[in-house]
Amino acid sequence: MNIYDSNRIYDLTSRIGFKKTYVKEEADCFILNTCHIREKATEKVYDEIGRIKKDFKKKKKPLVIVSGCVAQAESEEIMKREPYVDILIGPQSYHKISDLILSYSRKKQKINETEFDVVNKFDELEKVSNLQNKISSYLTIQEGCDKFCHFCVVPYTRGPEYSAYNFSKNNKNFTLSSLIRELNNIKNLKRIRYVTSHPKDMTEDLINCHKDCEKLMPIIHLPIQSGSDKILTLMNRKHNRNFYLSAIKKLKNVNKDIKISSDFIIGYPGETEKDFEETLDLIQKIGFVNSYSFIFSPRPGTPAAEKKLNNLSKSKKRLIKLQDILEKLQLENNKNYLKQYCEVLIENKLDNQEKYFGRTKYMTPVIFDSNNCNPGELINVKITSFNQNNLFGFHKTNKVQAA
Ligand code: SF4
Repeated sequence: MNIYDSNRIYDLTSRIGFKKTYVKEEADCFILNTCHIREKATEKVYDEIGRIKKDFKKKKKPLVIVSGCVAQAESEEIMKREPYVDILIGPQSYHKISDLILSYSRKKQKINETEFDVVNKFDELEKVSNLQNKISSYLTIQEGCDKFCHFCVVPYTRGPEYSAYNFSKNNKNFTLSSLIRELNNIKNLKRIRYVTSHPKDMTEDLINCHKDCEKLMPIIHLPIQSGSDKILTLMNRKHNRNFYLSAIKKLKNVNKDIKISSDFIIGYPGETEKDFEETLDLIQKIGFVNSYSFIFSPRPGTPAAEKKLNNLSKSKKRLIKLQDILEKLQLENNKNYLKQYCEVLIENKLDNQEKYFGRTKYMTPVIFDSNNCNPGELINVKITSFNQNNLFGFHKTNKVQAA
């Protein structure tokens, strides 16, 4: 979501003549696009501003803009604590960024634009051409969320759920699955992926896309957070373990190649050893790949932030144990590719080397030798070695036809 937003911000500002620079000292505007999901997000913003201040101590002050969820959640605090910030823009308002910059340069008055304005944003973004499109591109299928999991800030910082594609016309409902089916018909499009935030969004029509749409990749990021029904209830996740398992069973019934990645929160308030063991049991049952795990950290303003914290050193031990299991699963998964040919979409050539970088259908990074290939092509790579995160191999000239 943040990569998509950053790219759109760049597209919008380039309309008023802004250009990207990789030389920090050259910049006359810094836009810090922030995410509030991760721990210490706000402190990172202040640290970054501190570095800019230091670098520009003897130079003309650059324009400093903070956009995204941290701006939304902490706008008043940032305005008070950091006068170096000129403009604050919430995630629902960044389509106005060029106008706000122009207005600031005329009036030199600080701007705090953090009101929710969801529909307007999508309407405006439709008119912006996508300049960042290289090998792959993002489409926002949903903004905000109505599910109110007790640990999460998204419903507060991004507002209620809104989709640009979910609508009815002539008594027909158009949903994410309709969009995927349309995309699947585009001749030159080679691969389609989507990310859902919640198992309840895994509807029958979406599951069936995995049967019919050959360009839809067989990996699904489906966050579970915990394998314990007690903890799922405390988290207000509105689904239980069985619901999750049955969604995966349905997916595998329509496409046996599907693999699942997930997110896990360890040490959620109230988590006992038994709850944790149930999470480990679920991991072994499903055999997740490419998953993420974190120790619970409270987000101000959420119900979970009011709860008594678990013992941190116990949570750390649990996290190490869980990550160890996830790592082993990942290694076993990668080992299966050894001596096999696997289909790779080439993303780029590595600097100063005859090596290329690409991804398998399952998003696993592949670094390979080749003397005859181009970014954007689908090719077969023979895998000769692997580690936990990457596959390594070589490519001869046997190109795969786009599906
Ligand atoms: S589903 Fe829950 S965790 Fe995901 S964005 Fe919504 S509230 Fe947050």
